[in-house]
Amino acid sequence: MRVVITGGAGFIGSHLVDRFLRDGHEVVAIDNLCTGAPANLDDAVENARLTFVRADATAGLPVQGHVDAVLHFASPASPVHYARLALETLAVNSTGTAHACDLAERTGARLIFASTSEIYGEPAVHPQPESYWGNVNPVGERACYDEGKRFGEALIATRVRLRALDGRIVRIFNTYGPRMAADDGRAIPNFIAQALAGRALTLYGDGSQTRSFTYIDDLVDGIARLTAHEQARGAIVNLGNPEEVTITAVAGTIAAAAGVALRVEHGPLPSDDPSRRKPDVTRARELLGWEPQTPLREGIERTLAWWRSTRSAGA
Ligand code: NAD
Ligand code: UDP
Repeated sequence: MRVVITGGAGFIGSHLVDRFLRDGHEVVAIDNLCTGAPANLDDAVENARLTFVRADATAGLPVQGHVDAVLHFASPASPVHYARLALETLAVNSTGTAHACDLAERTGARLIFASTSEIYGEPAVHPQPESYWGNVNPVGERACYDEGKRFGEALIATRVRLRALDGRIVRIFNTYGPRMAADDGRAIPNFIAQALAGRALTLYGDGSQTRSFTYIDDLVDGIARLTAHEQARGAIVNLGNPEEVTITAVAGTIAAAAGVALRVEHGPLPSDDPSRRKPDVTRARELLGWEPQTPLREGIERTLAWWRSTRSAGA
């Protein structure tokens, strides 16, 4: 296959690049490096089957020739990043998604769109199945991301209905692992950086809010299965780990794995921060035969080992 991956120098995108190269495919990675880093492609860059294009996905996808799959993963993803890049986040999930649809339609490729559990907002249904419509503040500080992704989903669903697009939507729940940027701002990289530097872990609110964290290898495996599926046109699939934990418990797990005593410092809860989140993964199990394999403690230990080997403690 020839696979185009937007956001290919980001955390998830670079792991997808590695996976598709490892499986013998040709990969075109497109990234404007607004939150990603060339170092994420260090393992891939020598591979003759990789082409890297530095470009903004909102300006069009500069790809010639045949394409078998387009994976549209370009978008700021951390609340800290999309607060800083709010208009860019709206643009890449709307105009950028339209360009990804155009490329997929023109070439007859499959399109896989990286949506998010954020589209469920503050969920009134728990755990969240794909049939749940969500409960989102359309004008709040997270709206650039939540509504950007919801628009992207609406665009793809409409083009699947009205045109020939083979569009597939993956709703990704909180994912972590090696290559998350040290300044990413999300809970797991923040806690790891703080624990290794001997600082207090910054808990927002009382820490009783929950998330369900997926290790990167499990997520990538689910995305590869959705991409390879011969009959998944129009599919919408949650990919996440149903192991639901409080953020206080995550802080405790990271401190224990790092071998430090847990010290926390409380800060204000960001606005519209969901109080709970847990995927119903029945569809992923039935459609893809997919199930997350990595318990949180094990994934944290692997991430810590990578972090220690590539970064100094205070990074
Ligand atoms: P990331 O910030 O590490 O990666 C995003 C990449 O997209 C970066 O390399 C960035 O430079 C690039 N990018 C952003 N705007 C671009 C543009 N206009 N043109 C070209 N490149 C652009 O974030 P991530 O965690 O790897 O997230 C990747 C995708 O997965 C995003 O679409 C995100 O919304 C989605 N997602 C991630 C998670 C998670 O837990 N990590 C959860 C749900 C959804
Ligand atoms: N969080 C926290 N301390 C941090 C970073 C995040 O307590 O240093 C909280 C945040 O308020 C949220 C949860 O951890 O309730 C997950 O946040 P993250 O930014 O990782 O992901 P998202 O909010 O997008 O689920």
